[in-house]
Amino acid sequence: MRNFLIAGNWKMNCGPAETRELLKGIKEQQGAMPDGVDGLVCPPAISLTAAADELQDITGIALGAQNVFYEDNGSFTGEVSTTMLNEVGCAYVILGHSERRQYFGESDTTVNAKVLKALDGGLRPVICVGESLKQRKADKQELNVRKQVQAALVDVEDGGATNLVIAYEPIWAIGTGESATPEQAQEMHEMIRSVLADLFDEDAADQVQIVYGGSMKPHNAEELLKQSDVDGGLIGGASLKADSFTDIIQIAE
Ligand code: PEP
Repeated sequence: MRNFLIAGNWKMNCGPAETRELLKGIKEQQGAMPDGVDGLVCPPAISLTAAADELQDITGIALGAQNVFYEDNGSFTGEVSTTMLNEVGCAYVILGHSERRQYFGESDTTVNAKVLKALDGGLRPVICVGESLKQRKADKQELNVRKQVQAALVDVEDGGATNLVIAYEPIWAIGTGESATPEQAQEMHEMIRSVLADLFDEDAADQVQIVYGGSMKPHNAEELLKQSDVDGGLIGGASLKADSFTDIIQIAE
């Protein structure tokens, strides 16, 4: 059986001081992590060290970054490597978020290079895929997401599959307050799992956590998380409030 993964994508919010404050709030609200639920927070790179320090007192919540570069080191101004993320205690890295694709020119090819580098460097990639509103209106969501998943996983070996997390994040639902319906989410997650089964095998596909992202909040989390192929959430806005984030963790139990 797969654990739920409840992951916070803090985006460009919370410097080191605010990171400490938010994690202290989470610690206060959050008792023991429920069985079967993995927690994850992904603050900005500048705040990872502060977060790692606070997380020492919180069991069951891992640390992740929001991006990594696909080279080891060198003249790549502004980038960070897998070795650096390991050094500050990251276990996960979000890759291919739609905001990175939209504003920073991230392509399927660069996402794939980063996925391979993350796996090689012992980090679990949380690979974001999802269709635009235009694609959904044209009923092209499956086609688009299938292509994104296949492209992200080129050259990933069978052994790597179990370290993957896929986040299905319809772009029209991110930060809009309008989440996918539970049925829409289940349909897409089931399709993604079948793509994974084709690329690897059914056993491996069954082990991959496929999480939903896009305006997941305490009021809609239960219905989304009830779907058989929805294994958690990648949460933006609601992860910036200790009580909403911990409420969703409790709902996942
Ligand atoms: C996200 O950015 O990954 C996200 C899902 O944001 P929100 O929960 O705010 O829609």
